[in-house]
Amino acid sequence: MTTLQGKVAIVTGGSKGIGAAITRELASNGVKVAVNYNSSKESAEAIVKEIKDNGGEAIAVQADVSYVDQAKHLIEETKAAFGQLDILVNNAGITRDRSFKKLGEEDWKKVIDVNLHSVYNTTSAALTHLLESEGGRVINISSIIGQAGGFGQTNYSAAKAGMLGFTKSLALELAKTGVTVNAICPGFIETEMVMAIPEDVRAKIVAKIPTRRLGHAEEIARGVVYLAKDGAYITGQQLNINGGLYM
Ligand code: NAP
Repeated sequence: MTTLQGKVAIVTGGSKGIGAAITRELASNGVKVAVNYNSSKESAEAIVKEIKDNGGEAIAVQADVSYVDQAKHLIEETKAAFGQLDILVNNAGITRDRSFKKLGEEDWKKVIDVNLHSVYNTTSAALTHLLESEGGRVINISSIIGQAGGFGQTNYSAAKAGMLGFTKSLALELAKTGVTVNAICPGFIETEMVMAIPEDVRAKIVAKIPTRRLGHAEEIARGVVYLAKDGAYITGQQLNINGGLYM
């Protein structure tokens, strides 16, 4: 794609944190965005209003993407509103950190459902539309934790590593069609998810980051736009945006 003008994207969990930055960055490149939310109705409606006030097009769509029927609804609503779908950004995610000894089945399953099953749910529902697009894109927001592991994060790490395997396998299957499938692996980014980590623990994390700071959500969003716009020959890859923390 030489331009993103007029393309249509879905950003799951697109109203907060990294998702909100991705939504804004896509919209500022002329993309019509379906902003998915699960519980954050107000922030989804606020970002849609902001985009429309700036002359763009956006809709807010409620769906818990860990459920296959709701994910299907999200894709259908988007297609009905904008007539096409070119870019799917699987960004929705949660953490339920516990050391493995204390990790109950519920927290294991919930994190796998929201972070990994959601990717199957949305991508399978979107596939036909992406194949109709000239240069469809699937961009999965994985994590450094899926590559390097994380203490107290067996559930999250398994889900994020699962996304990477999914990315490579689907990229192989779709390469001939022009649909690319890539992952972005953020390091520690300044959002609610990371600010929920106790301050002393966060300080220790920052001390280990070669660039000595947390990342900004906008830095991930610009990676998404790069893959969407200039990524026709990039598929099955992991784009690490992590301040050098994992190489
Ligand atoms: P965040 O601020 O906590 O936002 C999470 C987003 O996911 C929210 O918009 C939330 O929407 C949505 N979400 C959660 N469960 C959902 C569900 N069942 N269905 C639909 N949407 C759901 O987190 P963030 O830091 O921006 O993280 C965004 C993504 O980046 C996640 O996949 C995360 O794992 C990944 N990541 C983050 C970091 C980091 O340092 N922050 C690092 C690596 C990877 P509602 O509020 O409406 O539920």
